Amino acid sequence: MAPRIGITCGIDYAAQRIQVNADYVRAVQAAGGIPVLLPPVPGDPAAILAGVDGLLLTGGVDVDPVLFGEEPLRQNGEIQPDRDASEIPLCRLALETGVPVLGICRGHQVLAVAAGGSLYQDLPAQVPECLKHSQQAPRWHPTHALRIERHSRLGAMFGPELRVNSFHHQAVKGVPPGFAETARAPDGVNEAIEHPSHPFAIGVQWHPEAMWDREYNYNALFRALVEAAASVRPRWAPS
Ligand code: MN
Repeated sequence: MAPRIGITCGIDYAAQRIQVNADYVRAVQAAGGIPVLLPPVPGDPAAILAGVDGLLLTGGVDVDPVLFGEEPLRQNGEIQPDRDASEIPLCRLALETGVPVLGICRGHQVLAVAAGGSLYQDLPAQVPECLKHSQQAPRWHPTHALRIERHSRLGAMFGPELRVNSFHHQAVKGVPPGFAETARAPDGVNEAIEHPSHPFAIGVQWHPEAMWDREYNYNALFRALVEAAASVRPRWAPS
C-alpha cells in the first residue's frame, strides 16, 4: 500500500477557511504518496500521527516568536496560534517516534523550533547584509544559490550546489540540538537542516513543491519522503 503523507494546512481566520496550496498535494501524489490533509486543530498528536506514515510541514505564516523565547519584533508577520499549537506537538512526536518528516519553508522553521532551535524574525532587519530572500519572480524560478554539505542526504540528492526559489523573511538562526545545518545561501543564511540518525527529518527553506512539475530533480525530496514513509511504517505501526 502506498504510504499516507499527512500535509499540514493553514487557516484564513477572516474567511473561516482551512487551506493549503495544491502544489504540496500534487507533489506528494506525483512522488507516489497518498496525500492526507491535516487541519490546524490541536488534538492528540499520537492519534493523528497513527493515521499517516509520514509528515509534510508546509509553508505559511510566521512562527510565534514566544515559542523560541522572544517577544515579537515590529517586523514579525501574521501568526496562527492554532497552527503552531497543532504542528509543533505533531513534529515533536514524529521526531521521537521516527516518523519521517519533511519541513518546507515555515515547516522547516517549525521543525527547527519544535526541536529546540530559534529563528530570525525578520532577515532584512536582523541580517542587513543578506541577499534577497523574498523573490519577486514566478514561484518556480530559482533566484539564489545554495551550498550543500556533501555528506548529507541533501548532498546525495542534489550535489554540492543548487539554485533555489526563495519566499521567506524569517530563517533558522539557532540550529536545534542533534541536527546538522546542511545548506546555506551564499550570505550564510541557513537554508536546510537534517537529523543524521532519524530515519528522515529534513527541513528546507526553499519551495521544492513549486517546481515539482518543472525541474525533475526537485521531486527527489518528495520521493525520498515517500520512500522513507513506506519503509518506516512497519516498524512503528500500532498492531
Ligand atoms: Mn532563501
